[in-house]
Amino acid sequence: MTYDLSPRPLNPAAPAPAMTWPNGARSALFIGFDVDAETAWIGNTPANVDRMVTTSHGGYDARVGIAKILDLMDELALKATFFTPGWTALAHRDLCKRILDAGHEIGHHGYLHKMPDRTKLEEAFEEIDRGFEALEAALGVRPVGYRAPSGENFPELLAHLAKSGIRYSSSFRDDILPYRHASADGAKGLVEIPVNFAFDDWNFGMTARTSPRPIFGRDAVLQLWIDEFEATHAWGGVTTLVLHPQVSGRPMRWFLLRDFLRHVQQKGDVWIATGRDIAQHFETIERPAA
Ligand SMILES: [Zn+2]
Repeated sequence: MTYDLSPRPLNPAAPAPAMTWPNGARSALFIGFDVDAETAWIGNTPANVDRMVTTSHGGYDARVGIAKILDLMDELALKATFFTPGWTALAHRDLCKRILDAGHEIGHHGYLHKMPDRTKLEEAFEEIDRGFEALEAALGVRPVGYRAPSGENFPELLAHLAKSGIRYSSSFRDDILPYRHASADGAKGLVEIPVNFAFDDWNFGMTARTSPRPIFGRDAVLQLWIDEFEATHAWGGVTTLVLHPQVSGRPMRWFLLRDFLRHVQQKGDVWIATGRDIAQHFETIERPAA
């Protein structure tokens, strides 16, 4: 494998169009959960399947986390997008049905949460195809949104997603506004709803026996989230959350998340929407300029 390291923008997408949000809102909040469950632990490390304590980090999703998160969304009357690996939907079908029944959006998050690898195209495409099949079989849904497991992507994968009916992605970290991906074959690229890595709860709240890391408490995380949100709000961007029930469904983090979401709701001029709604809004904004 040789790599093309010539100097050029590595994401050739055009700049984001100027954005106005619905209902006179100044900014948008996109609440995205990644329902990895055990796949976070076995997708990239299959040997973990025989390590019940290691995989029990992910098992928290089904036993506690998802239900608690659904309670929170219900209490605050919010709708979110739940990016769900196909394996999770099959293994925890009833719980995932509850997500759907509560009116939330189900997004694509691979099949076994394997990190997309450009040197293994076949495996990367299979993750997408099997993910669709599993979500269809378990939940009867055909998602239009995709968040890359372990947050990686490349041109062939973007093209495969677009061909498969995916309309938006939420993985890239290079903007504060939605934009349209370029595509090599002239077909329409995906809408990107970029994420801010400061809102990935895994960074602050997950530690494991085999890869111990420091975790951060309420005072550090809540203040960081409020400050980052307030600044994004002032700039009129989208605040995209990358949350995991196995992290934010833990007791202290659940209350932390509730306080953060209440803070956003109290602003009164934030459009809180699912990924599908944001992608659709982007398309209406984009059209007149085209
Ligand atoms: Zn994930």
